[in-house]
Amino acid sequence: MTLSFDPSSIRFPAEHFIGGERIAAEGALDLHRPSDGVAFAACPVASEDLVDRAVDTAKQALATSGWASARPRERTNALHRWADLIEQEAVTLARLEAVASTRPIAEMMTIDIPITAEQIRFFAEFADKEGGDLVPTADDSLGLIATEPYGVVGAITPWNFPISMAAWKLGPALAAGNAVVLKPSEMTPFATLYMAELAVRAGVPAGLINIVNGDGRTTGTAITGHPGIAKVSFTGSTAAGAAIMANVARTGIKPMTLELGGKSPQVVFADADLERACAAIARSVLGNAGQACVAGSRLVVEASVAEAVVDKIVAAMAAVRPGPTWDAATSGYAPIISERQLARMASIVEATVAGGGTCRHGGGRIDREGYFFAPTLIDGVDEASPAVTEEIFGPVLTVQTFQDGDEDAALALADHPTYGLCAGLYTRDLARAVRVTRKLQAGTVWVNRYGRSRDHILPTGGYKSSGLGKDLGREAYLANRKSKSVLIAI
Ligand code: NAD
Repeated sequence: MTLSFDPSSIRFPAEHFIGGERIAAEGALDLHRPSDGVAFAACPVASEDLVDRAVDTAKQALATSGWASARPRERTNALHRWADLIEQEAVTLARLEAVASTRPIAEMMTIDIPITAEQIRFFAEFADKEGGDLVPTADDSLGLIATEPYGVVGAITPWNFPISMAAWKLGPALAAGNAVVLKPSEMTPFATLYMAELAVRAGVPAGLINIVNGDGRTTGTAITGHPGIAKVSFTGSTAAGAAIMANVARTGIKPMTLELGGKSPQVVFADADLERACAAIARSVLGNAGQACVAGSRLVVEASVAEAVVDKIVAAMAAVRPGPTWDAATSGYAPIISERQLARMASIVEATVAGGGTCRHGGGRIDREGYFFAPTLIDGVDEASPAVTEEIFGPVLTVQTFQDGDEDAALALADHPTYGLCAGLYTRDLARAVRVTRKLQAGTVWVNRYGRSRDHILPTGGYKSSGLGKDLGREAYLANRKSKSVLIAI
């Protein structure tokens, strides 16, 4: 079977998913296909009342389903069946996403769906393995640290890897015994709805996963400020993360996990395997057209190899072949999510060039239908250039050089005043790798490679304004349970 398909053959009704049922709604926000700009659907905006209904439904489902109180292995089994069904329904899920988002159909089938299923299975296995602790106290007492689910978790996800981001939230929250009210991005609501429906078909009790669609201002604010939401789990921009913190402070303190923006450096020393380094760097800004929080968008390179490194990356940039996300034959060079985002990208690149930067490749929109931005490499920039300071969230790489051997200068350039999500480091010198890794201010450091792997045990989360708390790893599971200290007199 060919994976390519006709995007107009798929229906995208405006809906929510509450209590195991699709709820028809009025489309409010027009959506355009990123690959060709054609209007294809509208996203509804859930009101405060509808969010209220979703939270009540989640509470009811927790009370009646036994999800948190039955043998934990039952949660594990149900989540495994859900992951299996996601794989069985891969084509339907992949097509929903490929029309509406920037994810090419071939990558959906080989990357997003297998990873989503795997992440759900990864978290499912914690349910009957991570308990509390018996702790040392005097002989006249028994000390325990018990853990319990929070209740209803409010989750909010971005548009860039929609189903995998949903799995980051739903997997640990459900495995840990919670129910969830989740709002996907208003730009990519559809595949997440279907994913939730599959959960119910797989035997996850109805009402434990509720999807309310809408924008951040109305629906997102109603979720994070709802008194029935016991914990907030958010992935998105630093600005939205800050707005959520303010709303939570105003409406009632609750724990938060915030996975936010990044502007990650790629530090290349002259002794590195340059072929390998350049391939990794190019992949990190070309994959999903740079629309990844971890995109390594600032090249910091030792002066003597700078030209060679730039040439190799420019060659990789010149080789991309854009194409619609529903065509399985395209190279996988993705479109940008929206016209607005494309215009923002172009204005940051223009301002950088006006300030003295030089585009060695790309520099603007690709002349074809849809929202495609040319892979762009800019040198002649400094710490104040907009393309160096701003998270562009697109296929744009800046180049800054440091004098040969000057590790401190490399570290100073690598450091960003606001962000600290990830960093890449390339060198064959083991001592230097350890030394520099220790000093890099980032929640993740990749050495002689770049990008998240399928080692879901490694938590992800940022330093500085890149976030608070962790997704993935044991940390993400534990963040979905609260601990209770118990001391029993004997
Ligand atoms: P965004 O912040 O605009 O939106 C993300 C989500 O938050 C959407 O669902 C949106 O509707 C909602 N939202 C916006 N304002 C809100 C508010 N005040 N209250 C509640 N909800 C609100 O981000 P985006 O454009 O969808 O995604 C791109 C951003 O996400 C980038 O900054 C990227 O770095 C970040 N991101 C981070 C990670 C990570 O792991 N750190 C992963 C993916 C994306």
